[in-house]
Amino acid sequence: MCGIVGYTGGGQAAPILLDGLEKLEYRGYDSAGVCVQDGGGLKVAKAKGRLSHLSALLEGGKALQGTTGIGHTRWATHGAPSDENSHPHIADSGKIAVVHNGIIENYQKLKERLLAAGKRFHSETDTEVAANLIEYFYDQGFDFKMSVRKAVERLEGSYALGILCRDCPGVVIAVKHESPLVFGFGKGCNYIASDVPALLKYTREVCYLSDGDMVLFTDREAHFFDAAGDPVVRTPEHIGWDASAAEKAGYPHFMLKEIYEQPKAVRDTLSPRLRDGEIALDDVRLPADYLRSLRRVYAVACGSAYYVGVQSKYILEKLCKLPVEPVLASEFRYADPVLGEDTLVIILSQSGETADTLAALREAKARGARTLAIVNVVGSSIARLADDVLYTWAGPEIAVATTKAYSTQLAVVYLLALSIARQLGTVDGARFEALYAQLERLPDLLEQVLDRRTVAQLQYDASRYFHNRDVFYIGRKLDSATCLEGSLKLKEIAYLHSEAYAAGELKHGPISLIEDGTLVVALATEPAMFDKTVSNIREVKSRGAEVLGLTIERLGEELQKTVDSALLIPETDPLFQPSLAIVPLQLFAYYMALMRGCDVDKPRNLAKSVTVE
Ligand code: GLU
Repeated sequence: MCGIVGYTGGGQAAPILLDGLEKLEYRGYDSAGVCVQDGGGLKVAKAKGRLSHLSALLEGGKALQGTTGIGHTRWATHGAPSDENSHPHIADSGKIAVVHNGIIENYQKLKERLLAAGKRFHSETDTEVAANLIEYFYDQGFDFKMSVRKAVERLEGSYALGILCRDCPGVVIAVKHESPLVFGFGKGCNYIASDVPALLKYTREVCYLSDGDMVLFTDREAHFFDAAGDPVVRTPEHIGWDASAAEKAGYPHFMLKEIYEQPKAVRDTLSPRLRDGEIALDDVRLPADYLRSLRRVYAVACGSAYYVGVQSKYILEKLCKLPVEPVLASEFRYADPVLGEDTLVIILSQSGETADTLAALREAKARGARTLAIVNVVGSSIARLADDVLYTWAGPEIAVATTKAYSTQLAVVYLLALSIARQLGTVDGARFEALYAQLERLPDLLEQVLDRRTVAQLQYDASRYFHNRDVFYIGRKLDSATCLEGSLKLKEIAYLHSEAYAAGELKHGPISLIEDGTLVVALATEPAMFDKTVSNIREVKSRGAEVLGLTIERLGEELQKTVDSALLIPETDPLFQPSLAIVPLQLFAYYMALMRGCDVDKPRNLAKSVTVE
């Protein structure tokens, strides 16, 4: 999510840290900070806002003297973007400074214990727990290294930490678990960073740390330890890429990188909320009495988020027996919707700043409805205004066409639906357990969808069809909602005319557009609807369409009999199948766009966060 850097050597640290952070700003940009050490003291400078603001305050780093330091550019997960919540965080007695990338999932429990032990907290972040925990052990007489080791043994979640100790000038310790961290070997100096671009100006000799690794380094030495605490050898690897490729971690486009980040983003969104067989929805307050009084739910959003709203209709109606109406935010505010205390309005937005969606939220609140926001950006306008917030932990999304934000919104809808169903008693225990287990497996299944064979097949399919003029997407029920998003992706980045229809609707009009060679992408992932969709595929085949089919592995052989090319995905519960089905459609749009020579990350006429009506 965020970017961290660390340096120790003969030069001034602050300018090097600021320069490295600038290369990492794509990873997070709601606040920035550095901590440097000058012969003993720890000096911190941090501020809400862009890195350029901090850099101006520090005169490019000249205003902060010291030859060892750590730096951070934040993508808030716990606590709004503010000066206090910015990193580095200094432990209560000022002996330990920490920068952190990731989420400490058990921070609440640890915080309570540390408070009981007398530690005070000055921010709302989960990170401050790590700083205080290390200091807690240090106060008990353990040395710097041992204090870090003992603290990380107690941390759950994901973290890359850069750590300084007031009493150990010239020493930096870094640890990594499920957040990226690279070590840079310098001459008379050494570095750490979340990603290679921060280091390329200084060294091309790096090593990627493994989960559980710890490194303790000075200007001349670096000692590596594995998860068991045993010394290990980590050898440098030479980086041959240029900086812009490295920012994309070697991917040619941010969109492709973000497609591949989906298993992790969905895991980060789901796993902290799947706790001991129950759904834990952060601080959301939807008491059973209130849920029982609910008469109607609206899902209000724009673009891809609206299509998550369409999915939510199928999911919430099935699991919670509540009527759900997806409405476009730009329509909602003017359409005079029926709103009141018995209405829940779910607001979906990646940025949390979408103007139409924000206006719809204001309208819903003004008219007495309860509002629940699903957003990706902590502290955004929508997050602040809604009665309750559920964050998607997708991290910053750079490509204009959304992929991982869409997938994580869908994951939050699953959590919400299961939590409400549990409280209302609309699913029985066995069904709840089965769905819970499927949800836990979802990130692994997403990894399987991204398997090399599927990707190669999609590249091949795109090479066959990229000259097509029109593309139709068809499917039934949840598949029809996935079609809407797949079709939008193709329009957005490949500039191709495309439409999505519920498969049974085709014969009521649009089938007249099918002619020889028209491409139809047909989704048939739900076993109960399979035969019906196959009949619709036959209808278009007999009018000359070329059909690219998508189904679950066990139905692959059957589908192959009817379509020109079949794509297979692993099977999960039909309610969760859209999470897996959308990925090949994203990749298909991506490769179609590439072959058509389009600017994938910055499609024409579009912007990432639409803050105008
Ligand atoms: N969880 C930490 C916070 O909210 C770190 C987030 C990040 O990776 O930037 O401050």
